[in-house]
Amino acid sequence: MKYVSTRGRAPVLSFEEVLLTGLARDGGLYVPECWPRFSADDIRGFQGLSYTETAVRVMAPFLGDIMTEDALADLVEDTYANFDHPDVAPLKKLGEAEWIMELFHGPTLAFKDYALQFLGRLFGYVLEKRGEHLTIVGATSGDTGSAAIEGCRGRDAIDIFILHPEGRVTEVQRRQMTTVHEPNVHNIAVQGTFDDCQDMVKAMFNDQAFRDRCRLSAVNSINWARIVAQIVFYFRAGAQLGAPETPLCFTVPTGNFGNVFAGYVAREMGLPVEQFIVGANRNDILTRFFLSGRLEITGVVPTISPSMDIQVSSNFERMLFELIDRDGLRVAETMDRFREQGAFSFEPDLLAKARSLFDSDSFDDDETKAVIRTIYEETGELIDPHSAIGLAAGRNKRRNRNIPMVAMATAHPAKFPQAVEEASGIHPELPENMADLYERKEHFTVLSNDLAEVQSFILDNLSERGAP
Ligand SMILES: *Cc1c(COP(=O)(O)O)cnc(C)c1O
Repeated sequence: MKYVSTRGRAPVLSFEEVLLTGLARDGGLYVPECWPRFSADDIRGFQGLSYTETAVRVMAPFLGDIMTEDALADLVEDTYANFDHPDVAPLKKLGEAEWIMELFHGPTLAFKDYALQFLGRLFGYVLEKRGEHLTIVGATSGDTGSAAIEGCRGRDAIDIFILHPEGRVTEVQRRQMTTVHEPNVHNIAVQGTFDDCQDMVKAMFNDQAFRDRCRLSAVNSINWARIVAQIVFYFRAGAQLGAPETPLCFTVPTGNFGNVFAGYVAREMGLPVEQFIVGANRNDILTRFFLSGRLEITGVVPTISPSMDIQVSSNFERMLFELIDRDGLRVAETMDRFREQGAFSFEPDLLAKARSLFDSDSFDDDETKAVIRTIYEETGELIDPHSAIGLAAGRNKRRNRNIPMVAMATAHPAKFPQAVEEASGIHPELPENMADLYERKEHFTVLSNDLAEVQSFILDNLSERGAP
């Protein structure tokens, strides 16, 4: 399998190269040259498989010859072995033709674990094979940092540095990062905002000398391997609900458009999906786009679903590439214009194409809490604010109530205890294996919002293998 850039001007790469490269040299994102297809028989064959068996079948076509199928099966087995549910991503019936897929049974209680546990192992495998070392630097407003740290802890071939804004992540999120004590994990609390952290990470990637010296790499959601691991959710739900015979509808709480794009890929690969619903909070740029065809930046407002407090969804560029028939030069033009002007209007035919498959709805914090309360009263299920938004958007926007709808539950309620308790009056308990999180010892370094200081901290703290 070969990979091309969404902006059409970067070299064609293999999966292994894409994994290590991240962003394409022309500023675009890598996508497969063409989508692998499963036949109806192949998809029928997924019925009765385990989560990990499904994952191997779904991911193998993307990985090319990077490893044998047996090696992949071992790696996938190992990836999900410590998840705290035997089904890995259990599907629960909520109501008539309404299902919820729980994607929070990994070590940090959010769906990002499903991809980042895999990515950490994949990096480890490839780097050992090549005898190389990588330095991962990332900024987090909460969920990505902890999931990336959990995925990379203890791997000799990787040093991971995660910048979080001091005092601006929740206690659960901070503790999930700072109570990991392997020597290759480095937590930096920056005296600044999330945007300051993000800007510093971008500056480090643009500092070519520094980038080469540390062999910098990224684990943010533009990494293609993350999308690949998420495609599995959709085939897994499909197999359990009777695909290919039964068509499906998915509703997904969305930030960077990575999860729902993985669903789109599953559909391109042959899964019969009739509709995707994109859930948003008050940061509703995507909802406005699907309504009007105009992509317009306003300004980020903080909400009780912080993992969706995003203005520009990085993976939306992959969707755009598909919508405009894989015309990379047009994507490049569109993205340039969007960046210059902060807004872009698409032609009616393109909007119509997007709307034939996607709908979207958004909810403010009060509405989100009301949904959490209602679902609890109706079903006895306590859901987190992100999952509540997905479910509510689905209930509002689904077109055909006879087609099973699957709502992606992207975080455990105990990850956002305050909002959930305010909504329902119930304090959500952490799973048993994490019950002592508040007693564990923390370890992190506070640095000022100063690029030079952060860069010299990174150089001073690289492990021997990574030291320049
Ligand atoms: C990251 C995240 C999302 C958004 O997922 P995208 O792939 O960025 O659209 C939704 N919910 C939770 C809990 C998350 O951590």
